[in-house]
Amino acid sequence: MNVLVINAGSSSLKYQLMHVESQEVLAKGICERVGSPASFHRYGTGPKEHQDDLPLEDHDQAIALVIDALTTGPAKAVDSLAAIDAVGHRVVQGGRYYPQSVLITEEVIGRIEELAKLAPLHNPPALRGIFACQHHMPGVPMVAVFDTSFFQSMEPKSYMYPLPYDLYEKHDIRKYGAHGTSHRYVAEQGARLLGIPFAESRLITLHLGNGCSASAVAGGKAVDTSMGLTPLDGLMMGTRCGAIDPAIVPFVMDLEGLDTAGVNNLMNKQSGLLGISGVSNDLRTVAEAADGGNSRAALALDLYAQSVKKYIGIYLAVMGGADGIVFTAGIGENSAMMRARILEGLEGLGIVCDPLKNAQGKGPRVISTDSSSTAVMVIPTNEEYMIARDTAEIVSAQ
Ligand code: ADP
Repeated sequence: MNVLVINAGSSSLKYQLMHVESQEVLAKGICERVGSPASFHRYGTGPKEHQDDLPLEDHDQAIALVIDALTTGPAKAVDSLAAIDAVGHRVVQGGRYYPQSVLITEEVIGRIEELAKLAPLHNPPALRGIFACQHHMPGVPMVAVFDTSFFQSMEPKSYMYPLPYDLYEKHDIRKYGAHGTSHRYVAEQGARLLGIPFAESRLITLHLGNGCSASAVAGGKAVDTSMGLTPLDGLMMGTRCGAIDPAIVPFVMDLEGLDTAGVNNLMNKQSGLLGISGVSNDLRTVAEAADGGNSRAALALDLYAQSVKKYIGIYLAVMGGADGIVFTAGIGENSAMMRARILEGLEGLGIVCDPLKNAQGKGPRVISTDSSSTAVMVIPTNEEYMIARDTAEIVSAQ
């Protein structure tokens, strides 16, 4: 089955056309700066990349262009629209309604609209992507795959905040998590790599990209995660602060004369690696500055490693131990330096990184010593595959 995977952001639209059974990526690309005159479409697989600069007013025009690129032109992947069997949409917030991916119906669209109150920056563009596909691909079945679904298995003791209970009843204030599709994928793959049935495994998954989150996955189900009501909680990130003393918020608002938008901007866009280093949100740039003697960049790396290390400890306690720890996403997959810093000093907990294995290799692999009682793995994430697989399963069952 050929599934078109769509990830629509506020000004971007990423896509992949995947043959699900073979996991072959037939085409992929991204429309960026949608809604601005400087928009462009970058596409192609492997070394052959193309870029067309052209004004794209909205997601509707972007989808029309994507279909055109899939069926004609230099990166043509299929002869016609008829060869696209289904569309899978990444949707950030599924609230408490969707513990699994779901076939998109009018009712589902209504729920995604309703849940925009919890994800105002993410659910509305996902809807624009859905509407654009309905317009240009009438009759093609579509599935919504939610970032939050994997975490719906958490128990109240993990997802509730110790705030007045009526905030939960009135406004659905609770932990929903983020990056769920990635955590689900690498947890499944981690269990497979260790040769343990997923349903019997205990894993700590670390998605470390620009956004960062950690999860505890026991018995094939998420039992806890570091992201909260919003994707600001938990680990220190590229520009986000992660968990801080909540009293800092009103305190800084008073001291700096900030309104809610101002303090949100400060915590989401000006904090994390960028805020501490003053250099960049990009780990590579911060590491270069630290190597060059920049003490704030060095502090940013220390804080980051400490932030992830603490969550490993939390989730070891939550699950009473772990069979494996999985690193994934930009930093987790690529930065041997950061993995080593995070794992440093955990030997007493039975977590022993092998420096050679950590520094070498590509693809899914174990980087701990044979004697390490908790294995450490690096597993490249593949959210698109999970979206395509869920879509194929749901559409085939109709
Ligand atoms: P996003 O959350 O935007 O998808 P990514 O998963 O691409 O982000 O992760 C971006 C982060 O990964 C950046 O901090 C970047 O520095 C880091 N990164 C990417 N490649 C490497 C690399 N080869 N070595 C070290 N860090 C890397």
